[in-house]
Amino acid sequence: MMTEEFINVDQDELDKFEKLAGRWWDPQSEFKPLHDINPLRLDYIDRHAPLHGKRVIDVGCGGGLLTEGMATRGAQVTGIDMGKTPLSVARLHQHESGLDVDYRQTTAEQVADEQAGNFDIVTCMEMLEHVPEPAMTILACAKLLKDGGRLFLSTINRNPKSYLFAVIGAEYILGLLPKGTHDYTRFIRPSEMESWARESGLQMTDMTGLVYNPLTREYRLNKDVSVNYMACFHKA
Ligand code: SAH
Repeated sequence: MMTEEFINVDQDELDKFEKLAGRWWDPQSEFKPLHDINPLRLDYIDRHAPLHGKRVIDVGCGGGLLTEGMATRGAQVTGIDMGKTPLSVARLHQHESGLDVDYRQTTAEQVADEQAGNFDIVTCMEMLEHVPEPAMTILACAKLLKDGGRLFLSTINRNPKSYLFAVIGAEYILGLLPKGTHDYTRFIRPSEMESWARESGLQMTDMTGLVYNPLTREYRLNKDVSVNYMACFHKA
């Protein structure tokens, strides 16, 4: 199946973001969950790998929420995405904020061929559940890292509870996300993520849950990884 021409992109998945991208920076839009988790994940990254002065690549950066956050903390950031509209939104916002981010429409695999070992930190958040071969993306992320670098991944676990919360709850009951945003079969178990990372020469140093409380409508970091989770990996 994986020929040399195989491009690890699913156009149907990209289309979902094309349609919504105009509202990316509206904190009350479909992207509210990303706005809500942004400070938590920025602090998490900064705690495990201080961002100031680091070379960072944000894979599947979308409209640039995390990308700009890392640039604000003093990192030198490249943001890549295969979505045309999310990238134009990211560039437009960058114009307003005046931050120095290098945005490019490309894949992790392609940049890994050109710039292997060039980054201190690689981030790939809420994106693996939208690609055909997440293991390939993780391998490309590992190649992008310098020795001693850190990779940060986040995605959604695959089990009955995550189906109930991330699909039924978020899309159908709470209306946090548009229906059809997430395909349950693409969700990734922590054990799968860890073994793909290990096969790519990475060692997991931490994993944390991102837990949504529907009563307070807030997210917090917690050891419960049954729905949304995030992890940090080290390249020896
Ligand atoms: N990482 C961002 C955006 C997550 S939304 C954040 O957490 O804030 C997922 C993004 O992944 C979308 O912008 C979509 O266009 C992008 N994407 C999906 N498949 C991709 C691929 N194969 N290569 C690069 N970007 C991809």
